[in-house]
Amino acid sequence: MNLHETFPLYISNSLTRQKEVFNPINPGHVGLYVCGPTVYSYVHLGNVRTFLTFDVLYRYLRFIGYKVRYVRNITDVGHLVDDADSGEDKIAKKARLENLEPMEVVQMYTNDFHEVLRTFNFIDPSIEPSATGHIIEQIEMVKRILDNGFAYEVNGSVYFDVLKFQSAKGGYGELSGRVLEDLISNTRELDGQDEKRNSLDFAIWKKAEAGHIMKWPSPWGMGFPGWHLECSVMSTKYLGETFDIHGGGMDLKFPHHECEIAQSVAADGQKPVNYWMHSNMLTVNGQKMSKSLGNSFSPRELITGDHALLNRGYGPMTVRFFMLQSHYSSTLDFSNDALEAAEKGYKRLMNALASLHKLEYKAAASDDKLNAEVQELLNDLLRNLSDDLNTAKAIADLFELSSKINSFANGQLNLGSLSEETFTLLKDRFTRIITEVLGLLPEQSNENSVTDDLVKLFIELRQDARKNKDFATSDKIRDDLAKIGVTLKDGPEGTSFSLN
Ligand code: AMP
Ligand code: ZN
Repeated sequence: MNLHETFPLYISNSLTRQKEVFNPINPGHVGLYVCGPTVYSYVHLGNVRTFLTFDVLYRYLRFIGYKVRYVRNITDVGHLVDDADSGEDKIAKKARLENLEPMEVVQMYTNDFHEVLRTFNFIDPSIEPSATGHIIEQIEMVKRILDNGFAYEVNGSVYFDVLKFQSAKGGYGELSGRVLEDLISNTRELDGQDEKRNSLDFAIWKKAEAGHIMKWPSPWGMGFPGWHLECSVMSTKYLGETFDIHGGGMDLKFPHHECEIAQSVAADGQKPVNYWMHSNMLTVNGQKMSKSLGNSFSPRELITGDHALLNRGYGPMTVRFFMLQSHYSSTLDFSNDALEAAEKGYKRLMNALASLHKLEYKAAASDDKLNAEVQELLNDLLRNLSDDLNTAKAIADLFELSSKINSFANGQLNLGSLSEETFTLLKDRFTRIITEVLGLLPEQSNENSVTDDLVKLFIELRQDARKNKDFATSDKIRDDLAKIGVTLKDGPEGTSFSLN
């Protein structure tokens, strides 16, 4: 029996605004699509929060027994500077300013994105498609929308006809809770130069003006796809016309995701997504962290502490812990105090994990109440994660379990009074939820841990030498280690070491 049968997953669906039991289209299999970054600059810590939400969702879906196809795209064309249909392409602009090929910009920031993901221990998606790799499919989708009468061509550009779509199919505005009439009255008047029939219409294909670098031939002339189109195309291609879960940051609900829905319905007549999930914003003094507001910093700055907003550097695992302490649907305000507290909490949890693995189980008279208590906490952990991925409550459960583990370690509670079955479950679930689901690892680089292991090996060899009264060897080990900056200190508990 799979864990998702015992602990069914509930998701707060942004589309219906209800918490719904998750029911995948193909039992046991999940299609998950998440909007990836626009690779024209370094990712900041706000971006990390959104990708973390879906990393943990992916991990948890797998943990409870689903097979998941996780698609997260790279936006490398079509995202314009003002997020709408005018202005320069973000990537082309960067290329112009830095005198680089657009694909050089794309490669540079894609590499950086991947490095950040590794630093924060994210799992790679199953497929990472790019918009420029799917131009043909995007042209095909524009054709289907045109054929179905929901778009019009003007002077080499193709626009989606929102009003026509709304009167024929309806539903535009449902995801973001906007009313079409309000949207119309809130948008600027079209000026005489505008090619659109209505200011709400959006480009699905744009004509490349003279000097525009990133362009492709199409039935409407040289041009490039509109930003919203790529996600509709790539999710359909890899997950089907209707798939299970679509995720992204809250700020993408409108217009990006609203337009994705309209495009899919217009092209293929199907609602593309059953469950929409949106991760809320990381804020600084209550304001969204963003490049343009100048209140953002990169993960690298966070680790070195080299930024005006930071008192010092913090490790990536501390940041994971900090973010997972709040529910993904709430805003999360950054502060040095919160990070310091998170660092302490994270260490407390990792110490409990280390203690758990040192415990040696020996059965004694059973304590039924204690057994039931530990079992209940272990079940709560999964109930809370299955309750719309409530990592905040799951961490509270892990702390309660940590107190029990510490009591077993210091002898206040007798470990043997747990049944062997409960102890095995405690060890397995506590470890796997922390490392596999929350993705928290000991905050130590591999390099350090290899050094530590090597020094420990020398300490053991030195002890053997001393036992054999081979003092020449034991002194040589101590002196040679000292020469390379490793000081050994003998004490009643054995030999410890410090690195200079
Ligand atoms: P972008 O590269 O701007 O398209 O953003 C990549 C992802 O990060 C999107 O899903 C955004 O919604 C998300 N994002 C941007 N700013 C923040 C923030 N301050 N907090 C959380 N997520 C964010
Ligand atoms: Zn998208």
